[in-house]
Amino acid sequence: MPQEIPPFLREQLLSQYGEDVTAQIASGYAQRRLTSLRVNRLKAEPQAVRGALTAAGIACEGVAWSGDALVLPDADERAVAALPLYERGEVYMQNLSSMLPPLLLCAQPGENVLDMAAAPGGKTTQIAALTGNGAMITACERNAARCERLRFNLQRQGAQRVTVMNIDARQLDDLFAFDRILLDAPCSGSGTVQLGESSRARFDRETLARVTKTQEALLRKALRLLRPGHEMVYSTCSILAAENEALLRRVLPGAQGEIVPIDAAAFPGVPLLPTALPGTLCVMPDARYEGFFAARIRKKGAKRG
Ligand code: SAM
Repeated sequence: MPQEIPPFLREQLLSQYGEDVTAQIASGYAQRRLTSLRVNRLKAEPQAVRGALTAAGIACEGVAWSGDALVLPDADERAVAALPLYERGEVYMQNLSSMLPPLLLCAQPGENVLDMAAAPGGKTTQIAALTGNGAMITACERNAARCERLRFNLQRQGAQRVTVMNIDARQLDDLFAFDRILLDAPCSGSGTVQLGESSRARFDRETLARVTKTQEALLRKALRLLRPGHEMVYSTCSILAAENEALLRRVLPGAQGEIVPIDAAAFPGVPLLPTALPGTLCVMPDARYEGFFAARIRKKGAKRG
């Protein structure tokens, strides 16, 4: 149970953000993260969920940028998991930061959407809900056990029109073409550190290099599979530039990708970190938000059909 930031991570944060911002990040890492959930609009309305929580003695607060997100300042996940609405799939336990990429993706009913690294399915089910089950979603997951969890969550949440592929997304056939792609990439998890909590995350040069290599290959594949003129979202729960801004700067120019600026004003109350690539969003870890990075990317070229 580390009480201090692991040395390699601290070194990276200091060189990227400097002393003052690193101290703020450290303070975010030290806070107990509050439970939050997303109301699953395929099965319930926020008002009804708020009512059921209140009846169970669980206080909840909304957020300014989404009517579906609720923060539970005093309850842990087990208290929610004990409620019938959880069993029925009316809510999904999800950190606020993790709800941002599907909102940025803006998938529409009738579109072909690829979720490249999908398990356990928080964002796949959110895309299904946002499109009223109207998008055709292909959800890829390399790990077989996590794939089972994904299938379970899709079923419980009532997500339809989702094709699950237990496959390494780097092996997807280049003949596929998608209208939108979410690449919520495997990462170091540097945004989710909680001092005083046990964790299997490793922060060292070799691990970072390995993770970055996978992210780069996945991003290159995503840009090959995206239709020209269409958009994707790249996200990680890391706040390290090596996995985010530096990676995008290296890959986008030669892969027909360009940043579509995110309007941070659309997300009032989200604590932000400085980002080294204009138009991208980096979330500061605090009690409500995990550290997180997201970028909207357009593939150059004219839309066809
Ligand atoms: N998007 C998920 C959600 O919101 O619930 C979380 C995804 S998690 C950050 C990354 C996932 O990518 C892990 O489940 C991991 O097993 C999977 N993964 C890692 N490498 C992969 C690859 N090459 N192809 C497909 N999935 C991969």
